[in-house]
This record gives sequence, structure tokens and C-alpha cells, in this order.
Amino acid sequence: MENSILTEQDREHLRHCVALAREALAAGDEPFGSVLVDASGAVVRADRNRIAEGDPTAHPELALVRWAIAHMSPQVRARSTVYTSGEHCPMCAAAHAWAGLGRIVYASSSAQLGHWLDSWGIPGPPVQVLPITTVAPSVPVAGPDERLAEEVRLLHARLHGIGGAEL
Ligand SMILES: [Zn+2]
Repeated sequence: MENSILTEQDREHLRHCVALAREALAAGDEPFGSVLVDASGAVVRADRNRIAEGDPTAHPELALVRWAIAHMSPQVRARSTVYTSGEHCPMCAAAHAWAGLGRIVYASSSAQLGHWLDSWGIPGPPVQVLPITTVAPSVPVAGPDERLAEEVRLLHARLHGIGGAEL
């Protein structure tokens, strides 16, 4: 766990991400959601996981990177924040850093997700689970939020048909 100092505004954006993750799950996808917030605190782009459409790299964090490169100057990107329901995977963390985006705030960490999957006997992802701080050490990060992480855990439990997940 890196840093749990989150503002109320951070939590509001994270709740938005968890709502997007819930929407992804309802649409038959994995429960991940992310928003891109500019320096004024406005949400400029939101997305959710779309791997069920056949592209296993269709993670919301990567989609936000692509959008930011197409629509924001490097200066504006550097002052933007990406909020996400689950900490960036190494692919998305690398893309975020290459794009020169700013801070990342996550509701649940990759370590937490790895622990949940282990405890359920679910195989891990095909890419090594590494924290953002290892992949992109210059990116400021904050998270997880314990209460929202529990909501995310329940979404993943539901994805995998683990009992007791009522949401
Ligand atoms: Zn990813």
C-alpha cells in the first residue's frame, strides 16, 4: 500500500470509477472503470473495461491514455489525474508514463486483486502483477481506499461467481 491520503474530491472520483466498474460487470465485462480529470477537477473522459468485445488490451486506463494523447497537450496531460477502480496493470502504467500524464489514484491495489484471486483459486493475469511505483516510479500515486476497495472486491467476487457477493 502506497499512500492512503485521499481527499473527499478524490473519493468522489473513485466512486465514479467504481460505478463504471459496476456498469462494466453488468455489461458482461470485467469490473474496471476509470476517469480522466483535468487540473480544474473536471472529468474530461470516462471509460470502463471493454475486453468482452474481443480485445484483451481494452483496459479503460489505456483508452484514457489514447484519448489524452489525441486531445490534450503534453502540458495539460501532465496536470491531469487518472482515477481508477483498480490500480493500473503494467501495460497501462507504462502507457500512462509514456504519455506524460500526472497523478494516479486507485480505489483498490493490484496487490489486493492478486490476493483476492489467490484466495478464490482463480489464476492470475498473463502479466506479472507489479505496482505502478515499480513500472513508472516518477508517477505520483495514491490509494487504496479501504471502503471502496471492499466494493471492488465484491464486484470481482461476483464476476467469478464467488458466494456471498451481493451487490
Ligand atoms: Zn491495464
